[in-house]
Amino acid sequence: MKSVSIVVPVYNEGENILHFTNAVKEVMDKQPYKWDLLFVDDGSRDNSLELLEGLQAQYENIKVLALSCNRGHQIALTCGLDHAKGDAVISMDGDMQHPPALIPTLLAKWEEGYEIVQTIRQDTQGVSWLKKKTSKMYYQLINNLSNVHIRPGGSDFRLLDRRAVDAMNQYREHDRFLRGIVTLLGFNFAEVPFVAPPRFAGESKYSLKKMVKLAVDGIVGYSVLPLRTAFIMGIFLAFLSVCFTVHALYVYINGEAVSGWTTIMVCMSLFGGAQLIILGIMGEYLGRIYTEVKNRPLYLIKNQEVEK
Ligand code: UDP
Ligand code: MG
Repeated sequence: MKSVSIVVPVYNEGENILHFTNAVKEVMDKQPYKWDLLFVDDGSRDNSLELLEGLQAQYENIKVLALSCNRGHQIALTCGLDHAKGDAVISMDGDMQHPPALIPTLLAKWEEGYEIVQTIRQDTQGVSWLKKKTSKMYYQLINNLSNVHIRPGGSDFRLLDRRAVDAMNQYREHDRFLRGIVTLLGFNFAEVPFVAPPRFAGESKYSLKKMVKLAVDGIVGYSVLPLRTAFIMGIFLAFLSVCFTVHALYVYINGEAVSGWTTIMVCMSLFGGAQLIILGIMGEYLGRIYTEVKNRPLYLIKNQEVEK
């Protein structure tokens, strides 16, 4: 019998865990597969870990990996993918926004021979217009800037065949954007549209800071165009400054230098600003080289008894 692992990163989801687990059990118990649920506790500060360990003790097919501190959704998910053993692995959120009722559809696609079954969010209920709009604009931007193509609405709710999981696990970059990595894998790819309901309980655990980090990782991780833009801008500005120097010398020779104050101020701020933008972009890449070179472990597992 084929086996299916369901990987769920959890951060302070105490109010959702039991409801979510029951919903998954109800769906999976009807499926003709051996299945297990692998929770990755991402350093929760509420009673999530306690609840999860209770479930682990109660059910043979529920396992819990506990990260030593909050490492973020993408790292928690990576830890789950590293340790999941199923012939297919489904990753999903633990707040019911990725409806367990959709799992049979993903499995049916897998049976048809697709190795990656990606869900596409058509709409998210209970989310502001601004968040939807910025999300859509973000995907348009990343698709224009890089050679990965991520459909707007692409989420981390997906099924991966064992081969795709093993391939994915070979990507070890630290600033991770799994939605991007999936597009680099190849394999047979199917899409399943869905409408995400609001969270069952609690607030989003993706703070603005975490969201901006993910967005920047997505762009900088898959495109060198911003770096090239800095280079092009640098050349353009160097040319401009030569013209400006000629102008300044001309003004100086004609004895009208003092009146140039406005020009100098405007130019100073213009160049200062441009330099800062370029430095900022450089810093973005440099920071990533730095984290890669350090090559720190992506995560540390607290409860070591769960073997690979
Ligand atoms: N999550 C996590 N670590 C974090 C933030 C979130 O493991 O630092 C988990 C969270 O518990 C949930 C999933 O990642 O299962 C998605 O997070 P959330 O629902 O808050 O994101 P949103 O749906 O608002 O984008
Ligand atoms: Mg959510």
